[in-house]
Amino acid sequence: MSETAPTASATESASSGISERSADVIVVGAGPAGSTTAYHLAKSGLDVLLLEKTAFPREKVCGDGLTPRATKQLVAMGIDISEEAGWLRNRGLRIMAGGLRLELDWPDLAAYPNYGLVRKRDDFDDQLARQAQKAGARLYERCNVGAPIVDDRTGRITGVEAKLGEEKTPVTFHAPLVVAADGNSTRLSLAMGLHRREDRPMGVAVRTYFTSPRHEDDYLESWLELWDRRGAEDRLLPGYGWIFGMGDGTSNVGLGVLNTSSSFKELDWREILKAWCASMPEEWGYTPDNMTGPIRGAALPMAFNRQPHYTRGLLLVGDAGGMVNPFNGEGIAYAMESGQIAADVIVQAQSRATPAQREMALRRYPQVLKDVYGGYYTLGRAFVKLIGNPKVMKLATERGLTHPMLMRFTLKLLANLTDPTGGDAMDRIINALTKVAPRA
Ligand SMILES: Cc1cc2nc3c(=O)[nH]c(=O)nc-3n(C[C@H](O)[C@H](O)[C@H](O)COP(=O)(O)OP(=O)(O)OC[C@H]3O[C@@H](n4cnc5c(N)ncnc54)[C@H](O)[C@@H]3O)c2cc1C
Repeated sequence: MSETAPTASATESASSGISERSADVIVVGAGPAGSTTAYHLAKSGLDVLLLEKTAFPREKVCGDGLTPRATKQLVAMGIDISEEAGWLRNRGLRIMAGGLRLELDWPDLAAYPNYGLVRKRDDFDDQLARQAQKAGARLYERCNVGAPIVDDRTGRITGVEAKLGEEKTPVTFHAPLVVAADGNSTRLSLAMGLHRREDRPMGVAVRTYFTSPRHEDDYLESWLELWDRRGAEDRLLPGYGWIFGMGDGTSNVGLGVLNTSSSFKELDWREILKAWCASMPEEWGYTPDNMTGPIRGAALPMAFNRQPHYTRGLLLVGDAGGMVNPFNGEGIAYAMESGQIAADVIVQAQSRATPAQREMALRRYPQVLKDVYGGYYTLGRAFVKLIGNPKVMKLATERGLTHPMLMRFTLKLLANLTDPTGGDAMDRIINALTKVAPRA
């Protein structure tokens, strides 16, 4: 399907004389960030165009692991996350390091559920896009967005150019506000002059699938030992490997590493993944014969590596705004949360009477993001620098696991799972730290 059938709202707009190719808001990219933004905007009654380069269902390179933060966002979108609907639940994180194995349950909190989920992204992203469509967003698939349309006089974005369908028909879409949800490469932000901040951490992650008896698991499993064995001395890399049972006869096996290690640019991550898999117990079946697809990888843009998040009619959400958590490489929850925040800011701005008042409301968006994540990401940047030192990483993996209390604290910190008010002593320490850290 190159262009989805117009929804009720599209037909209404057409009959009321508004071109089907203009709207209140254009959202570019229907990954988790874009579909969540479009869903919340449409639910609030705005006319939204959701433009997606690919056609669903489509593959997306990912670990497919969802923490309680992401689970909460799915609930907020009214997605049926029951086991009957095919969702595999997990109760926490299993950490493997230094020959030790520790199972830590997700914390019991008022603010978040105490379980996570696993779902392959081809189906996950499809469901989110359909949910946005059901809420009234007009989804165009196979719609490859190119250059922004910019008003020469004001410098504001007023729409986008795109190639639509298999025929790649040139089309233009118009709206006073555009949301860049086009992922890490975010051509749209680049075309609007928003470049990547080099002073922010970046990760890289690779993954593949194997048919395996380890396809069902109550825990997301992470291995804190990834080795660079090229030199005279083995070096522990800042990152982790994961094994997530998919519940469908396969495991998602991958690794993510930070650019704070000196070997970051020199290493071949596919080879490291292969070597790691070869060191696994034979009965798990992580052999080339059991691979169900190639090893694929992508970058993880972290800690607000693209700013400002609002300029001249353009808002950045998800990977486009560099919102991956530097502590654990999680990106889906932050993509969805930033989508919800952006939608809320836009809806409030739209209700203002004058352009100046609307602009004032929109300029709040970067500050709201900083208030929510700024302090936490600053701590994350310090953490990333620390574990970039192989000695610190070694000490943490060797000693940390023997202190269950410390590990419970670490889980809350790394997964960003605390109650914002009240909570236990650990929550209060983490919340206090994120409050005092600069919100940059
Ligand atoms: C190997 C790997 C494993 C990962 N594992 C996890 C994990 O287990 N859990 C987790 O939470 N996060 C994980 N992440 C991070 C997560 O995948 C991202 O943070 C998340 O996908 C960001 O969502 P997004 O909507 O911002 O961007 P994306 O998911 O990248 O979506 C962007 C969308 O925009 C579309 N698009 C791009 N350009 C255009 C264009 N020009 N016109 C129209 N559409 C366009 C794309 O087709 C895509 O659909 C992992 C990442 C990698 C690389």
